[in-house]
Amino acid sequence: MHVEIIAVTNYTAGEGAPVGLLEHAGRACYQSESRGQPGKFVQARVREGHESIIEHASVTFDISGISRACSHQLVRHRIASYSQESQRYVDMSAPEFVIPPSVVGNPDAVAVWDEFMAGVTGAYQRLRQLGVRKEDARFLLPNATATRIIVTMNFRSLRHFFSVRGEKAAQWEIRALALEMLRQVHQLAPAVFADQYERYLGQEGK
Ligand SMILES: Cc1cc2nc3c(=O)[nH]c(=O)nc-3n(C[C@H](O)[C@H](O)[C@H](O)COP(=O)(O)OP(=O)(O)OC[C@H]3O[C@@H](n4cnc5c(N)ncnc54)[C@H](O)[C@@H]3O)c2cc1C
Repeated sequence: MHVEIIAVTNYTAGEGAPVGLLEHAGRACYQSESRGQPGKFVQARVREGHESIIEHASVTFDISGISRACSHQLVRHRIASYSQESQRYVDMSAPEFVIPPSVVGNPDAVAVWDEFMAGVTGAYQRLRQLGVRKEDARFLLPNATATRIIVTMNFRSLRHFFSVRGEKAAQWEIRALALEMLRQVHQLAPAVFADQYERYLGQEGK
C-alpha cells in the first residue's frame, strides 16, 4: 500500500494553511478577531461540534497497491471525489494482487493462492489473445487485484471516515489505509485530527 498526499487547500488571504483558513471561516461566524492561535480556536470548534468550518479544507491522496475489495469499501464514502484506475482501459495481463496476512502466514494457503492467481492471470491473457476486450476479460479478476485511486475529501468527511474505518471493527485493509491517511493528515492539521490520532494511533490506540 502506498499513500501520498498530493494536494491540500491553500489559504491565499493569510498564513497557516490549512488551519488558518478554518479559523478564518469560523471567526466570520462570530465577527471575532484572531488571537494568533488558529489551532486552539479550530480545536475548540471541532470539540463543540461546529464542524461545518472544517469542510473548507480538503486534501487529495494518491493511493496505490490497495485491493479492489478495499477500494470498494472506500468509495462507499459518498462525500468525496474519486478517480480510479480503469480496468476497461488498462491492460491487466500482469496484475498485482494484495495478499491478506492470514494467507501469507500459512504455507498451505499460499500454495492455494498462488495456484489460483496463476490460473486467473493465464486465463485473462488467453482471453485477450482470443480478441476479448479488456472490459470483458476483467470479469475474471478477483477482489485481490491491486488498484490505484485518487481521493479528495474535506476534513469533516475525513473525520467521519476515520471514526468508522479507524475502529477495530473495520476490516484490516481499509483500517490500515485509514490509519495511514490519518497519520499523514494529522501532520498537516493537528488541531483538527489530534483527538483521532490519539485514539487510533497514540497510546490509547495501541
Ligand atoms: C464495520 C463495518 C461494516 C460494514 N459492513 C457493511 C456491509 O456488510 N454491507 C454494506 O453494504 N456496507 C457495509 N459497511 C459500509 C457502511 O454501511 C457505510 O456504507 C460506509 O461506512 C460509508 O459510511 P457513511 O454512509 O456513513 O459515509 P458517507 O457516505 O461518507 O456519508 C457521511 C455521512 O453523511 C450522511 N449521509 C450521506 N448520505 C446520506 C443519505 N443518503 N441519507 C442520510 N444521510 C446521509 C450520514 O450521516 C453519513 O454518515 C460497513 C462499514 C463498516 C465500518
